[in-house]
Amino acid sequence: MLEIQGWVLGPVATNTYLAGDLETKQAVIIDPAWDGARLAGEIRAGGWQLAAVWLTHAHFDHFGGLADLLNELDSELPEDFYVGMHPKDTPLWKVRGGAVMFGVQVKKAPRPNHDFQEGEILRLGGYDFVVHHAPGHSAGHVIFHCPEEKVLFSGDVIFNQGIGRTDLLGGSYQTLMDSIQKWVLPLPDETVIYSGHGPVTTVGDERENNPFL
Ligand SMILES: [Zn+2]
Ligand SMILES: [Zn+2]
Repeated sequence: MLEIQGWVLGPVATNTYLAGDLETKQAVIIDPAWDGARLAGEIRAGGWQLAAVWLTHAHFDHFGGLADLLNELDSELPEDFYVGMHPKDTPLWKVRGGAVMFGVQVKKAPRPNHDFQEGEILRLGGYDFVVHHAPGHSAGHVIFHCPEEKVLFSGDVIFNQGIGRTDLLGGSYQTLMDSIQKWVLPLPDETVIYSGHGPVTTVGDERENNPFL
């Protein structure tokens, strides 16, 4: 079974998710927003082995907990552990994800060591997630889709009744709308969307009720 847990963390209420295979006990953290030490505690308490950290994009509120998470779990991480991000968000990473602009302090974490690519398959225990490059909110934004489980981690591309803002570095409204058209709306209605902010929703709900679409 694919287990998904979520926490709302940090100064702008960002969703951090753990996705794990209950059989193999391997898990990934998607967007360690804040409180890295607490997340490490949750991982230990659940008996998970952290296989990777997947970043949807390089805004500070999606990796603010990364430094503490890695420090805390350092000796328990497997050999092939990685932190993944799309290379087009490297300029954003280099300015600490805009933290300074928002007047927020973010601890410096080691630079992600895996470059996500469009169409890449990420294996998590017995599950496959497909990476889609979905720019518009940021230039290197990616989303993670598990077709078998009908689950989508959408980051700040689409929210319950909302879409990501496009006025920050690398943002573009038209590009964001194109990404949503291309990668989100064609999915089956019952696909569950776990987004970067706000409650869980589904593709069908957003197709019907999202005022931006
Ligand atoms: Zn963002
Ligand atoms: Zn965000």
